[in-house]
Formats: sequence, structure tokens, C-alpha cells
Amino acid sequence: MTYLFDPPPQAALPIYGSDSTFPVHRIYCVGRNYAAHAREMGHDPDREPPFFFQKNPDNLITDGTFPYPMASEDVHWELEMVAALKSGGTNIPAEEALDHVYGYTVGLDMTRRDLQGTAKQMGRPWEVGKAFENSAPCTPISSAAQVGHLDSGAIWLEVNGERRQDSDLDKMIWSIPEQIAYLSGLFELRAGDLIFTGTPEGVSACRRGDVMVGHVDGLPELVVKVI
Ligand code: MN
Repeated sequence: MTYLFDPPPQAALPIYGSDSTFPVHRIYCVGRNYAAHAREMGHDPDREPPFFFQKNPDNLITDGTFPYPMASEDVHWELEMVAALKSGGTNIPAEEALDHVYGYTVGLDMTRRDLQGTAKQMGRPWEVGKAFENSAPCTPISSAAQVGHLDSGAIWLEVNGERRQDSDLDKMIWSIPEQIAYLSGLFELRAGDLIFTGTPEGVSACRRGDVMVGHVDGLPELVVKVI
């Protein structure tokens, strides 16, 4: 059998210190996982179970740019630590969840907030706000074998040299093991899945020409220019 047309290239992230790349299967993103961010978006963080949405694997971009997208005039940054899975399964206990994590990357969950806001108001899906081209700038992956598993430490974003997001990984409402346990009760997780683990407070709109520097203690920084 042959394909009718060439299949798209396999989405993948580079890995620091390796000639291999990390083939990406799915991208899951948790919503409102830092209390102060949930509050700035108008929600009560204390009463909500976690919820997830997805981006498309081919939304990843790793060349240090973020091409400003079409159809929006209010594109927000959301700096997040991202967990990369080397294996998966269903109903994974939280105590075993980190066994499935290959490593971590620093990522931006870029969001067309105006389109997401309309979708929320009308009870529509979020894809137009979240899952658009180039909406997931990321660094290469650092393996947990090299950097360990990260559950505390600074996470911050500077835009044009000014600190705009500033928090600590230990402020996540749902820890990474809890996110994996919960997600694996809804979906069969697989090797190659990425999980965006939520953004702290301080989200706001970027403009063309902005330089965003994202930092997570223990990981190389993400530097992205809006073009
Ligand atoms: Mn997010």
C-alpha cells in the first residue's frame, strides 16, 4: 500500500546531549493549575478538579521564534514546565507516575485569549484559542536522568527584560504525578506524550518584537522572539 500523498513529518523535540529526537505523540495541557493564575482568570481554585485540553503535536516550534498568529489581537504568553513521557498506560497510580517521565522541557502555551474568551462565553471548545500553528514554543528536552525530577524551584518569564511571571513549581495545585494519574484515567497515555503542567499568574499579551525568556530552575532557558 502507498499513501495517497506524503504523510506529514513526525513531530519531535530535540534532546539535550543526544543525537536522538523525542517523537511526540500527543500534547496535553492542564488548565488553572496555579491558584493565583486561576484567580486572575476569575475562578475559585479550591473547588475544581483538574481539567485538560490538547494542542496538536505539529504546533510545536523550537527555532526560537513565535510567528504572531492570524485572527487574534490578544495573544497571551503562559510559561509552563512540560513533562515528556517515555511510557504510558491507563489508571497509573500517582506513586508510579514518575517512572513514566523521560524528562522535562520549558514551554509556552501561547493562547489567542480573545478567541478563547468567546469560546468560553458560548460554551464552545477551546481549540481556536489554544491549538493553532506554532502555539507551543519549547526548548529541547532535558532527561530526568540528568536533571532529576522537578517538583520545586523557581519558574519565571521575562519579557523584554522585565519579570512578568514569577512563581515556584511547588505552587502547582495538582502535582505532576497527580496529573499523570488523573489523565491516565481518561486517556491511554503513551510514550511521546507531553504534558504542559500549568502556568503561574502574570499572563498577558505579547507584541511583535517582544523577546520572552522562560526559566525553570534546573533546566536550560527558553528564549523566544515574537515575529
Ligand atoms: Mn496553559
